Amino acid sequence: LDPDEFRRQGHMIIDFLADYYKTIEDHPVCSQVEPGHLSDALPSSPPYMPEPLETIVDDIRKHIVPGLTHWQSPNFFGYYQSNASTAGILGEILCSGFGVVGFSWVSSPAATELESLVMEWLGEMLKLPRPFLFSGGGGGVIHGNTCEAIICTLAAARDKVLREIGEENITKLVVYCSDQTHCSFKKAAQVVGINAQNIRAINTTKVTEFGMCPSSLKQAIARDIKEGLVPLYLCATIGTTATSAVDPVKELCRVAEEHNVWVHVDAAYAGAACICPEYRGLIDGVELANSFSFNAHKWLLTGLDCCCLWVKDSAALRQALSSQAECLRNKPAESKKVIDYKDWQISLSRRFRALKLWLVLRSHGVANLRKYILSHVRLAKLFEELVGEDDRFEVVCKRNFALVCFRISPSALGKQVLSTGYLSGDASIDNDNIKDGHTVEEPVTTTANINDVNKRLLEEINGTGRVFMTHAVVGGVYAIRFAVGATLVQERHVRFAWKLVQGHADAILRDRP
Ligand code: PLP
Repeated sequence: LDPDEFRRQGHMIIDFLADYYKTIEDHPVCSQVEPGHLSDALPSSPPYMPEPLETIVDDIRKHIVPGLTHWQSPNFFGYYQSNASTAGILGEILCSGFGVVGFSWVSSPAATELESLVMEWLGEMLKLPRPFLFSGGGGGVIHGNTCEAIICTLAAARDKVLREIGEENITKLVVYCSDQTHCSFKKAAQVVGINAQNIRAINTTKVTEFGMCPSSLKQAIARDIKEGLVPLYLCATIGTTATSAVDPVKELCRVAEEHNVWVHVDAAYAGAACICPEYRGLIDGVELANSFSFNAHKWLLTGLDCCCLWVKDSAALRQALSSQAECLRNKPAESKKVIDYKDWQISLSRRFRALKLWLVLRSHGVANLRKYILSHVRLAKLFEELVGEDDRFEVVCKRNFALVCFRISPSALGKQVLSTGYLSGDASIDNDNIKDGHTVEEPVTTTANINDVNKRLLEEINGTGRVFMTHAVVGGVYAIRFAVGATLVQERHVRFAWKLVQGHADAILRDRP
């Protein structure tokens, strides 16, 4: 590593990225390449002799950029964003520039101490109850993603209970979520050895705005106890993946605490909004939970990856995850006065992610971060109003944050409406199941064909390359998701996206028999 050459090449890459951001709107938001595009364009074996960075950057421009879906484009309204910022990107550069591996305090004291400090800051910003903070006996750690945070807290809860009831009873452990909980929960439960039959997805309905119903949870727990099973863990969500629904944390925690069930609050997307006083009330009840996590990389400008997890009982986490080896022995660890974050996560090695979070918090300040979140909420509200002004469309479910779920409404199609209602429960119900329930003899509006129309609308608007949105199926209804959250998004992008939706809807509705 030659420092002078590093400086020269570094400038080249920063210039390249600055130009990329200047012209990001010129690219089709969703990549238009065909599968295999890179293997056709690039050599099948590595070069034997070194190549200059200039040549490599040329190839990035020619072959890599066209194969990117531009997540940082202001016309990206898909999934939930993973928003980048100058501070976040520079923090990443510092992180890899230092190249430290802070698995234990001694392996890089500043990495550990900055992480503890920044998690304490962020905990204060979220007004997390004191028992989640180091100053109150708990503590925070940065993981790569929510799936990892859930695996680790599940392992902590599992081992805590198995110490009481015996390891041989692992097959009796039951975990609870809703049919709207992120799919990674099921994977996490299986990874920690929960029997697949013991994962309960409580049905949600339109009536509860797809939030988990505490009485359904109570009944499910009661049934399991009657069968001799052991309720272990509940995953409640603030801001579900499909529609940003909010589970009633306080009521769910009350049910869980009667049976000593570990409650994890997954606020992967919406947690960032809770730094705003306007939204903090949505996590009321978290004081009764055992752990809380959110992805700063979604809506808090750090870029991937940065999942912030707090636990009240950090000893439970360490008991489940600590690793010991002769090469890891050192005096500070034995003094028990320091944190060894290797014992709070799955892997041993870890990146210095706290740097970018620290840079983001310091470069923006709490006031501007709040303004930034609220500006996205305002833009989502504007989009929601535009949808509301066109009677061919409807908003499918309550907008809680900066996500609007909408569709062409059945009344825009139908001569005769057979079924446009919401099915209760499983978001994974597919169109074919719904179609099977009806006899379609003439143009009528069934849930199936209104879903097909909206699916076509989404494909057409994404096909233009001018914007990118994704979809969800909730209660059998196909909804187009318009998620506002890109760092560079402005009102003109939102208005443009809506005009595009309307234009394609005009054509689709005109073409219908
Ligand atoms: N939980 C919720 C509510 C999410 O919306 C998502 C992703 O969008 C996840 C979990 C998964 O997060 P990760 O990819 O960080 O594991």
